[in-house]
Amino acid sequence: MDGKILIVDDVATNRILLKVRLHAAHYCPMQAATGAEALRLLRSESFDLVLLDLILPDLTGIDVLRRLRADPATANLPVIVLTATSRPEDRLAALAAGADDVFAKPTDTQLLLSRIRNLLRDRQKLSDLCDSGDTALLGLSEAAAGFESPGVIGLIASRPEAALHLRHALQPHCSDRLLTLTPDQAIGDGMAPPVPADIFLIDGAPPLADGGRALMSDLLSRTATRQAGVCLLAQAALPARDAAMAFDLGASDVLHAEHPPRELALRLRAAMRRKRYTDRLLLSLQDGLRHAVFDPVTGLHNRRYALARLQALLRQPGPLAVIMADLDMFKSVNDRFGHAAGDHVLTEVGRRLSAHLGQSDVLARFGGEEFLILLPEEDMTRAQATAETLCRALAETPIPLPGGQGALTVTASFGLACRDALPAPGTNSVAISGETLLAEADCALMQAKAQGRNTVRADTRRRA
Ligand code: GH3
Ligand code: MG
Ligand code: MG
Repeated sequence: MDGKILIVDDVATNRILLKVRLHAAHYCPMQAATGAEALRLLRSESFDLVLLDLILPDLTGIDVLRRLRADPATANLPVIVLTATSRPEDRLAALAAGADDVFAKPTDTQLLLSRIRNLLRDRQKLSDLCDSGDTALLGLSEAAAGFESPGVIGLIASRPEAALHLRHALQPHCSDRLLTLTPDQAIGDGMAPPVPADIFLIDGAPPLADGGRALMSDLLSRTATRQAGVCLLAQAALPARDAAMAFDLGASDVLHAEHPPRELALRLRAAMRRKRYTDRLLLSLQDGLRHAVFDPVTGLHNRRYALARLQALLRQPGPLAVIMADLDMFKSVNDRFGHAAGDHVLTEVGRRLSAHLGQSDVLARFGGEEFLILLPEEDMTRAQATAETLCRALAETPIPLPGGQGALTVTASFGLACRDALPAPGTNSVAISGETLLAEADCALMQAKAQGRNTVRADTRRRA
């Protein structure tokens, strides 16, 4: 099933009709006949979208919507309001309370399904990127809104006076910044880069081809603008088929020129809210990915990253050196000065090692007080010299401890192993594995420890 949808309607036949249609479209529909039942279900289960009737026996649909928007757990849940009338004041009240869209009953099934697909698409793309599909695991559902500064809405029209007219109409109802743009300014015309905006509203009036759909697809496919939301403004009532197509092409909304400016502004606000929510999800996903490859104490890459890089480097033909470094008697640092001082030393060691390494070298915290260094293109002689430099860089200058505890000389032992250039094709030598290289470096490290620490040892076994 592709999405769990709650149908809230007091009329059983309406619920059943919608349920059948949603089932046929492979959604998982559930039903509530009252506002209280809807709120109870929404508190106890997680849904992907709500279809909400305005007239309910207990609460009004508007009451339900306000409560959903006030609760952080459901503040960004897509809600489509279904009204029995097409009165502008009902649409305005629903949009002002936080509806993503409002449809009059009876609703065109294809249009409703395309809007549902459209509202679910961004969240599904993001949750697919999480292993389990559970955005809450990455803290995504908690991505709190906080204070939101005004956004930028780009009003695009072929004729500048049309864009200006739109800006005058919207200005009194909008807290976002409104820019008037020509299609070339929005796309960037080779002379000037595209003008950045969070949301674009395209006036689909001629001479713009295709009611603005072609320009929308263009904006949604270009690197500079594809993160923006794009809304279309239709001059005349659109056939349901055309509006459905616009939603499937990725329109954030389809607005109608005959709607009051306040409604246009409320729909743009809703598009801005959705855009900011997906931006926050994306940021927290990127943050999660960063944590997967970095060590939080030292800020260096972690073991997982280093092992992946080792495998990648082994596929390249040149020589490769691996250094395993382990701090000497580090336990006594913790014992004498405390764990926080130990963390400080680890961070400073990482900084010093990093200062003596090149851009293409890899430095990672491999375990507790153990560091792994990968030196692409370095043979045994050069890698040995690098390891000696690193060893001296630690031992020569004591590390100042926090809290005025003085400075401490910290040393490390280094074990080195090398892979020469990959054997030429056709020879019967076997390519060495990452595990073998690491085991050899570890063995050399043990020798360095056995021989008194604060020294470098290389693995010199011959490899066939
Ligand atoms: P050797 O010279 O034989 O390597 O002695 P050592 O004391 O460095 O080695 P041992 O394996 O006995 O102890 C390692 C210590 O590293 C123990 C542990 O408390 C400390 N350690 C591991 N991870 C961290 C960390 O994240 N922070 C701090 N402060 N200490 C850590
Ligand atoms: Mg140690
Ligand atoms: Mg150790």
